[in-house]
Order: sequence, then structure tokens, then C-alpha cells
Amino acid sequence: MARIFFTGANLIDGVNPPKPNSTVVVEGDRIIAVGTDGSAPQPAARDTVFDLGGKTLMPGMNQCHFHAAYININTIFDIELKYPPTYLALAAAKNAELLLRSGFTRAVGAGSPHNVDVVLRDAIRDGLIQGPRLIACSHDIGTSGGPVDIDPDYWKLGLEGLAHICDGPDEFRKAIRREIKQGADIIKLYVTGGHGFEMPADEAPMTFEEIQAGTQAAHERGRLVRGHVVSRKAILDCLHAGMDVLDHADAMDDQCIELMLKQGTYVTPSLYFTWKTMDFMRKRMPAERLAQEERWLEQGYKAVDKANKAGVKLVVGDDFGTSWMPHGDYAVELEFYVKYAGTAPLDVIRWATHNGAGLFGGEVGTIAAGKLADLLVVDGDPVADIAVLRDRAKLEVIMKGGQFIESRLAPTASAKAA
Ligand SMILES: [Zn+2]
Repeated sequence: MARIFFTGANLIDGVNPPKPNSTVVVEGDRIIAVGTDGSAPQPAARDTVFDLGGKTLMPGMNQCHFHAAYININTIFDIELKYPPTYLALAAAKNAELLLRSGFTRAVGAGSPHNVDVVLRDAIRDGLIQGPRLIACSHDIGTSGGPVDIDPDYWKLGLEGLAHICDGPDEFRKAIRREIKQGADIIKLYVTGGHGFEMPADEAPMTFEEIQAGTQAAHERGRLVRGHVVSRKAILDCLHAGMDVLDHADAMDDQCIELMLKQGTYVTPSLYFTWKTMDFMRKRMPAERLAQEERWLEQGYKAVDKANKAGVKLVVGDDFGTSWMPHGDYAVELEFYVKYAGTAPLDVIRWATHNGAGLFGGEVGTIAAGKLADLLVVDGDPVADIAVLRDRAKLEVIMKGGQFIESRLAPTASAKAA
């Protein structure tokens, strides 16, 4: 089988500092060799060689908090009431392709109205549409009167598209078994308010017994569980229940971090949404609420910095799909952490590659022999300037499983001579 050689690469492998003048060899859907200074095999005449001349080669990124079917949202009602489910499915397909063409070769759903994630995952897997490898999320699972139980009872709508509302451990088990039956890979629990919800962050309408029953029901069937959780007490409840992914976790402290490290918990801070929302709402939000959001954001920056330095498995991904934060600017999130939370560019690249991949098996996310060939060629050095990743014109190659999704490079003359 003919192979593809990328030579002269500034290699960012997802784990280590950049290595100049590296070679990466792809055969079929896998990376088969990685070497620096001649340690990789030499190309044969039938192989294709791209001399990158110092451009960066890095793993395809992982978006680990993705709502493919969120579009043009102004209030939470819009998620379910603004468009029919069929329209949302088409929009989700468009967003999935946009995410892939933005350099993210894998995504993990974070809450999926009408089970759109499941059909989206299958349509991408079957080659019907282009998109990242997708881990499908369930509907939102919440309690009566919790943040996703949105329609007042007197409306008598009985909405079922956005959320499964359940109370008590048995109802949680049943709801999660239904989600698994419908095809979800990961289950989303709405544990607290805060982080975008009017319900305050320290209100936790889900009991420990419910979180525990839900987590067990998912784990019994080999599925993962993620939770929208902001306050310290609720973070600890989720950790004690063995939850896999904590979304936001703004109030994590030393005790939370210690448990996260011990249990290998993943954390999606998604603070870019909070920042973007504050920016948008500055003139619209009551002063008291604005001050509260600002306090949470400051706390979030400090928590993220502390968790990162301690070695918590932080990942990227955020709530794109509102009217003030539309789909497409996915890589701006990485730049945001560097700019506002003081995160080192190489660290945030590791969150988006190695860490994100670890969440579901780790066959992607690093550049190493044997891994799936999900990779990017970037015209620039994201360690020197993380903003280069947001410029889609600079993503000269996007490869998923050895297939070119984008390719703006021509094979080099040396390849023809070889
Ligand atoms: Zn979300």
C-alpha cells in the first residue's frame, strides 16, 4: 500500500514539547512511523511525500463539550421550541462538518435534543455526511424544577425533546436505560444551576442518591456520565458517585482536585461561554447578576489554573450555538484560556488532543505509531501563537483516519525523484 510521508515537520505530538524536522508516515488509516533526523523509514517511489518546510504537524483536536443541534439560541426555550426536530438534525449535520473543517476530528456530545447526536454519529460513521468521530450524548437528564425542567406546568406542553425529567433513584435508572436503548454513548445529568442558568449555582436540585443511581446505571452498561455541576458540594457529590466528566466545575477546590486526580476525572471548564455571555449581556443583565457572573468567572480562572498545574485531565469544548456565540469559532476557546486564565499554549493544545482523546479510548489525540491518522498541518506555530488555530485558512491539511478532509499542499518535487 502506498504510504503518505510528511517530512520537515514541526511536530507537536500532543504530549511532548515540539520537535523540529520530524517525519510522520501514514499508511491506510494509521500512523505507522514517527521519527526525527532520519530515524523514520525512507519513502519509496510509489509513496507520496509532503515536505512541510517547518510547518506544524499536530493531532486532530477533540471538542469534548459539543451541542451539534444548538442553533441561534437566545433563551433555553429556543432549543426545543424554535425549530422542528428535522430542521435541528440538518443544522447538526452542518455544524458537525464545520467542526471537522475547523480542525476537530473528534467530538463528544454534551446534551442532545431529540436524540440528534445518535443519528448524527451513525450518519457520519456510515459516510453519509462529513463530520468528526462523534460520541453521542443523551437528552438532558434533570429533576422536577431543576435547570432543564423549563416549561411551566400551566402551559401543559409536556415537552420531551430537550430533557428527561425524573425524580428518585429508580426513575433515574429507568431514564438512563431508555437513553442507552436509544443509542447514547454518554449520559448528561443537570446537577446544579449556574454557568448560563438563572438558577443559582449553589442550588442543587439533584440528590446524591439520584446522581449515584444514574452513574451506576450508565456504568453497568459501559456508558460514561457527565454532569453540569458548578458548586463545590455538588462537585464532591458527583466525584463520590464516580462521574466521568464534570462540565464547568467552576468551584473546584483542593479537595475536589485531589479526588479528580485520584479517580482520573475529566473536566470541561467551558469558561469561554461565561466570558462571551458576560460580554454580550453587559448592558442587558441586572448589575447584581452581572457581578455574580464576574465572581464565578474569576473563581473559574483560578480553579482552572490550579487544576491544570496539579495535572487534572482538562479538556476543551464549549456551548457554541447561542446567538452570541455561534458555531465556528471553536478554536478561539484555546486562545481564550491562554489569554485570560494564563494557560501555557502547549498545555491547552494537550487538553484538545491527548486529554480529549483519553476520554474515549485514546486511539486518536497523539502522533505515534499505531494511532489512527487524525492530524492537522498548520501553516504556523500554535505554541508561539495559539491564535493561528482559529484561522481555518492556515489549516492546510485536515486528515481523518488517513483520508484528506482538506488538503492545500502539493506533493514535493523530491517525492517524484524518490
Ligand atoms: Zn453545554
